[in-house]
Amino acid sequence: MKIPSNPNAVALVPNVADCAVIAKQVGKKYRLGSEDRWVIRGIDFAVQNGECVFLVGPSGSGKSTLLSILGCLLTPEEGEVIVRGASTLELSSSQQANIRRQNLGFVFQRFQLIRGLSAVENVAVPLTLQGIGMRDAMKYAGNLLERVGLWQFRDSLPTKMSPGQCQRVAIARALIGNPSLVLADEPTASLDEKSGREAMELLRDLVKETGASAVVVTHDSRIFEFADRICSINNGQLDAVQVQESRPPMTSNSNVAFFPMNAAPLPAFHVGESR
Ligand code: ADP
Ligand code: MG
Repeated sequence: MKIPSNPNAVALVPNVADCAVIAKQVGKKYRLGSEDRWVIRGIDFAVQNGECVFLVGPSGSGKSTLLSILGCLLTPEEGEVIVRGASTLELSSSQQANIRRQNLGFVFQRFQLIRGLSAVENVAVPLTLQGIGMRDAMKYAGNLLERVGLWQFRDSLPTKMSPGQCQRVAIARALIGNPSLVLADEPTASLDEKSGREAMELLRDLVKETGASAVVVTHDSRIFEFADRICSINNGQLDAVQVQESRPPMTSNSNVAFFPMNAAPLPAFHVGESR
């Protein structure tokens, strides 16, 4: 790994069309008693199409806050977020929900699978939320479950699966709708070393296969090798960017779609449009 002389050189990508997401001068504050406290402030951050960026930093430094802002789950008090070329500034919460459904996939530390649903039903959920019929949704979900090596668990409940298997199901669920950007918050933190590596490798491979991009928040240095770029956040500020030397230049190589309706590259998303 090398640290470029200008640590923000890679983060400040000017071309909007090349980026899955851009944060410009983003700030988020919380009220603590009678005072406002800025959790993150002045963050410029961009993820190029096809890129897998890791976000590291001490506990409480603002990683999850930034991830939630990129994922339109939190609205910043300052700055702007641009997802696939369109600003999310001043969108209603239902418009933000549309962006999440159509463009984003989420992976969490504790998997967040629906307990009463089988593995294949969990993977199918995002498609049914997009209005896809149950039969097709289950077919595509089954195909993807096979791709992640869990075909034999398609009818199993999450409680009957290991943590590593649950995270593979959750990764399949995050990718089923062919999102342009996957956001993962500590995806290996509940896993042992072997299943953590397997889950991260799977996430990286699916992201690359589909031409998506990813932002992965992690403390886990054992999986750093799966990053194209590592950004470090401290006290709410981005303070270093490391580029993996062994990685080829970032490219989008979208050839695969798990869900054909979404296979063609979308223009900037259509706010308020449902599918
Ligand atoms: P990280 O993911 O890096 O551990 P977070 O983004 O979760 O950090 O949190 C950054 C800081 O913001 C922490 O000090 C946390 O206590 C504070 N914080 C997060 N969410 C809230 C909230 N809803 N209200 C008040 N403070 C919060
Ligand atoms: Mg966190």
